Amino acid sequence: MRLSTITNWAYGATVALTLFSGVTMLMASSAEERERAAVAQRATFDRATATLEEDVYRLTEQARGFVITGDPSHLIAYRREKEALRSVEQRITHLRDVGADDAELTALRQAMHWADALTEEQDAAIRAAEANDDRTARTILFGDEYGRELDRVAAQVGKFQYMLDQRTDHAVVRATDTARQWRTMSEIMLGMTALLFLCVLYFVLKRRILRPVVRLSDVVTRLAAQDYDAIPPESAHVDEIGDMAQAVRIFRENGLERQRLEKERDADRMMRDLISRLTQRLQGCDNVSDLVDVVRRFAPEIAPDFPGRLYIHDNRRNAMTQACDWLSPAYSRDEFPPSACWALRRGQTHRPIGEMVDIPCEHLGEHLGVMESLSSICIPLAAQGESIGMLYYEEPTDSSADHLERTGQYLDMLAENIGLALANLRLRDALRDMAMADALTGLPNRRQFDAMLQTLVQDADRHGAPLACLMVDIDHFKRFNDSYGHDAGDAVLRAVGNVLGDSLREHGHAFRLGGEEFVILMPGFTLDQALGRAMQIQRRIQDLRLGHNGKELGPITASFGLSAFPDHGRPDRLLQTADAALLRAKTEGRDRILVATVRDGASVAA
Ligand code: GH3
Ligand code: MG
Ligand code: MG
Repeated sequence: MRLSTITNWAYGATVALTLFSGVTMLMASSAEERERAAVAQRATFDRATATLEEDVYRLTEQARGFVITGDPSHLIAYRREKEALRSVEQRITHLRDVGADDAELTALRQAMHWADALTEEQDAAIRAAEANDDRTARTILFGDEYGRELDRVAAQVGKFQYMLDQRTDHAVVRATDTARQWRTMSEIMLGMTALLFLCVLYFVLKRRILRPVVRLSDVVTRLAAQDYDAIPPESAHVDEIGDMAQAVRIFRENGLERQRLEKERDADRMMRDLISRLTQRLQGCDNVSDLVDVVRRFAPEIAPDFPGRLYIHDNRRNAMTQACDWLSPAYSRDEFPPSACWALRRGQTHRPIGEMVDIPCEHLGEHLGVMESLSSICIPLAAQGESIGMLYYEEPTDSSADHLERTGQYLDMLAENIGLALANLRLRDALRDMAMADALTGLPNRRQFDAMLQTLVQDADRHGAPLACLMVDIDHFKRFNDSYGHDAGDAVLRAVGNVLGDSLREHGHAFRLGGEEFVILMPGFTLDQALGRAMQIQRRIQDLRLGHNGKELGPITASFGLSAFPDHGRPDRLLQTADAALLRAKTEGRDRILVATVRDGASVAA
């Protein structure tokens, strides 16, 4: 019930009770009035009946006085008093006027008639006395008859008085009872009014207003200080305080929602900052290894509950190989063909979710059976329509759809940035390869040779490690060009380049210095080992049989100059020393290997 309704009801009830108690007070006062009137009436009757009795006795006394003494003053007094008596009807009328009822008046009238009869006997006695018949007069006034009539009048008056007493006593008692009842009623009404007033005061002010308002005020103060743990009191009443509590509750819910949105926005901003930092770091990567380090560091920060792996496409083997993982993913093989991933097949994110019907990727491995409820995410990393890698994630099962969706956006951004960086690195590698490699033979070129020589010479200088340098020059190469054309010359160059590249395997580095000149650097090779390798190469070149436009190009030979550190002096002079040996090999008839001599080194040094 609303407070205004309660207040109105309480006000109405208080007014009604006050009016009612006023009425009862008036009734009590009126009952008291009636009590007083009954008492007054009774006094009036008492006075009236007392006079009547006195009158009868006084007349009897005056008449008897005259009869006994013959004194005329008694007679005068008798007659005066008799004249003063009003008629019976007049006296009864007077008593009727003051409230005597018919039965009482009948009794009184009887007494008066009997009193009048006595008066007549008194008159007869006086007349006898005046006629000096004292005996008769005395007989009348002092006889037994007169005494009985006198007693009869007194008895009748007594009866009248008894009847009056009965009635007036009863009326007084009734009036007193009524007055007492109304007084009691009035007191009860007053008490109830006061009680009601106190109850309303306690209930409305303390329980329904003061206490809830104090609690609401406390909650509002805490909410104003952004303490959203403060919970507005539940009000079971539909009233103004309940309305206020409801308003405060809505205010709190709005505050909570605002706080949640602010938190979300802050988290989103933080995440975007993180991704932006990742992008900057990725742009600074010089090679794939740097990129992998950055991804390994940032990926678990961007999606803290998403274990995952980064795969990079290995062009030579056409396989996706794992570059790194984070947060210990449970599934997906280290290496797999691109066709084993639906994301790579379709060129877009593949996300089989939980129990939903979908096709898990083959690369998830032999665990496919037990992980049917796993939600995995495969995001392809693409550049110019070519899949260059893939990001694999295992989705947490206990996250909200909202969280998954938001993190999904970050994962897409992450994939986009990694894909872009990877593509840039690949492009850069390709450009560098193009700049560093010889286009015709595929061998590293002079620039790369210079860099490598510098590194290896430093190593040899620092650690005294052996290093061998083999210069190779195709003999009379110009003739191939001249006899069969430039393309034939190119074919010869490619064939010799292949021999040099293949013969080294992992040991050593072959370069095309320019024209038909090549060089091989063999770190860790002693002079003998290098010589053995040079002889193998010489044989394989001699064994080359090339044809061009249906014609055999004839035998191919080359001359070799070999120098080695520490055998032939300082490592930074190795190339020149080998070149000097090569020059001697040419001079001495070609198709041979000449090991440098100390003189070669010395002549170079000079
Ligand atoms: P030698 O036995 O003394 O080394 O004689 P050579 O003919 O091998 O040496 P020379 O220096 O006289 O000739 C080298 C020729 O190689 C000259 C040049 O036209 C040719 N040449 C240089 N680069 C290329 C190339 O890329 N392709 C082709 N086809 N020929 C080239
Ligand atoms: Mg040459
Ligand atoms: Mg040559």
